[in-house]
Amino acid sequence: MSAPFSNREQSLDLSIVIPCYNEEAGIPELLRRVAAAVAQAGIVSYEIVLIDDGSTDRTWPLIETATKNSPHVIGVALTKNHGHQLALSAGLATARGARVLVLDADLQDPPELLGPMMAVMDQGADVVYGQRLARKGETALKRLTAHWFYRVLDRVTDVQIPVDTGDFRLMSRRVVDILNTMPESQRFVRGLVSWIGLKQVPFPYQRDERFAGETKYPFRKMLQLAIDAITGFSTQPLRVASYFGVLFGLVGLLCLFYVLFSWLFAKSVRGWTSLITVVLLLGSAQLLVLGMIGEYLGRLYIESKRRPIYLIREVVRGAATEGKPIA
Ligand code: UDP
Ligand code: MG
Repeated sequence: MSAPFSNREQSLDLSIVIPCYNEEAGIPELLRRVAAAVAQAGIVSYEIVLIDDGSTDRTWPLIETATKNSPHVIGVALTKNHGHQLALSAGLATARGARVLVLDADLQDPPELLGPMMAVMDQGADVVYGQRLARKGETALKRLTAHWFYRVLDRVTDVQIPVDTGDFRLMSRRVVDILNTMPESQRFVRGLVSWIGLKQVPFPYQRDERFAGETKYPFRKMLQLAIDAITGFSTQPLRVASYFGVLFGLVGLLCLFYVLFSWLFAKSVRGWTSLITVVLLLGSAQLLVLGMIGEYLGRLYIESKRRPIYLIREVVRGAATEGKPIA
């Protein structure tokens, strides 16, 4: 994966990377608040990279207009909906700033925290990640699934991925450069960032409500992200086969005692119910384990094709910057 621009030497102080999928209702307010936050933080040399992840609404025309109105805006359109994590990866590959802030388009993560996060990074951190204290305006189901997701992930993965942490984070150039070299297509970006190491500092904050529109993470996409996260960072599920093996071995041993006992004392032929129960239990356990193995095998297959992880249809850069460095 290579960055679509090779002009890294035109270094900027900051890039703000924002994946957008059908976010037409929020884009103008998003740009207004981001520009205000950047000004407040006293940064003049920056870019806002908006990635259109195959939106079907007016998100892309709005982004194009924004590039005409501001030299700071870069629009990157993907060829289709590649998913949040890949849209984010495309944005990170495009960003040229010495520091990169990742933001959601829905303003759930306040851009105004940029200044304080920069201050934490000034003290020598490589990553300053937002850690949610509260989640306003999200359904009980979302909060519950998110709560358990982060805790289960923490239990099964070998990497320390901090709980209640999304993609809202400020990263140093070296972290982004390392991230850009990671080739996997089933990406769980926050896990990859944790995996890198270096000095990563939490930044507690209140998560706001979505500014406009609805969540772009239906249950299906959340489940996909959870599976990518777990299989991407842990091989423990594969061990479930061995656990089942031991468990059923013990149960089998008990059954054997029972069978011997019945045989010794010449009881009548019974046991259809128990037999069927055992067959069903064993059958479903085997299918479950096979499914898990299949999940990893499938991933191996996909990765082995080494297809590009996303495709860019078009890049539009701030009008006033053509042929000139952005600043
Ligand atoms: N998003 C994306 N592609 C997708 C789904 C979501 O680029 O397929 C973007 C979306 O526009 C938003 C961010 O990812 O900027 C997070 O999505 P959302 O706010 O809907 O997720 P939630 O906060 O509900 O978990
Ligand atoms: Mg959101």
